[in-house]
Amino acid sequence: MSSLLKPSPPVRSVLSSPEVKRALTFFEKNAEAITDEQISICSIPASPFGERARAEYLADKFKALGLSEVDIDEEGNCLGLFKGASPSPLLVVSAHLDTVFAPDTDFTVVRSGRRLLAPGIADDGCGLVALIALIRAIRTEKIRTEGSILFVGTVGEEGEGNLRGVRYLLTRGRWASKVDAFLSFDGPGVDRVTNRALGSRRYRVEITGPGGHSWGDFGLPNPVHALGRAVAKLAGYPLPREPRTTFNVGRIEGGVTVNAIPEKAMMDVDLRSGADAELQRLDSFFRRAMRQAADEENATRRPGDPLLELKIDLIGERPSGETPPGSPLVELAVEATKVLGIEPRLDQSSTDSNLPISLGIPAITLGGGGTSGASHTLAEWFDPTDRDLGLKRALLVVLGVAGLDHK
Ligand SMILES: [Zn+2]
Repeated sequence: MSSLLKPSPPVRSVLSSPEVKRALTFFEKNAEAITDEQISICSIPASPFGERARAEYLADKFKALGLSEVDIDEEGNCLGLFKGASPSPLLVVSAHLDTVFAPDTDFTVVRSGRRLLAPGIADDGCGLVALIALIRAIRTEKIRTEGSILFVGTVGEEGEGNLRGVRYLLTRGRWASKVDAFLSFDGPGVDRVTNRALGSRRYRVEITGPGGHSWGDFGLPNPVHALGRAVAKLAGYPLPREPRTTFNVGRIEGGVTVNAIPEKAMMDVDLRSGADAELQRLDSFFRRAMRQAADEENATRRPGDPLLELKIDLIGERPSGETPPGSPLVELAVEATKVLGIEPRLDQSSTDSNLPISLGIPAITLGGGGTSGASHTLAEWFDPTDRDLGLKRALLVVLGVAGLDHK
């Protein structure tokens, strides 16, 4: 823990506590138990809109660890309160329960050398186990805080969930308007401090037509052909050099059989940019491209044939924004990283923190330590080597915000 860098006062005062010093060693000593815990929680299936079993498991953990007011709220978030000397400041410490994977996915965790393999093992198994490890360390060393900490497993962080869990928590749930700061643990790593929220828009595009026989009705406008034109147009989008801007057709569907003109084709599209103006430009291009694709396909039809219909639905929208680098929360995370001898990296991403940031609540997202790869694929892996560094940083930030109760 020695460093030439001068920690900011909160980190220094947190570090001077003997309980905290002991708690920091907790994560190394219990590395195997923490990994076992991660395997347990990640083995419980959790698909978008199918997080209930995992939420119940986490609620039982929260109860067993002595949190109060343990609850699964109306949206499905799992909550547990660590009471400090005072109800405020109230810090939310969260990780997301959901994964991107379908309900029939095999969530069994397999060990391969140092690696753990399972869909969602890192995203967000890392974060969920970080919550449990933090509570355990705080409890074991009988650390008392000034402010209170609301631990939350959120639903709906990924994809179509569209941040529904954190949105409910902060705008409609019983804790809405009481939260002073927000910290989310998402994925692995120990240097990243995500203080900028990456905005995104997600669309479902549906193209429908009369359909017919591939030979007998040839000449009818074909929804899959139109969709193909649409994808090709989007793929040709002239990207700006800066800011980073991306698009993705993540899912397509349509048609029934090889010798029928389909009645329907659809796709899900994700548009992102580091700047709102660029996202707007991409969005306009996308809408125009979809229209043109349908029009071009319609132009090939025989006289008198019905037109294809194009439907574009917004299925997700994530606000952008930032918690400024000079804000106490970001400075605290930066100092906590440096104290561990690691160079912090401010970063932009799309996480649960987008929502509190858009509401003006200071929020950052941190990694829970370790390394991972093949995120959002069935080959996702996590390596817990040196995970304790991520958890140490997490503890310093959490206690830095909540403050230690020395009375
Ligand atoms: Zn995630």
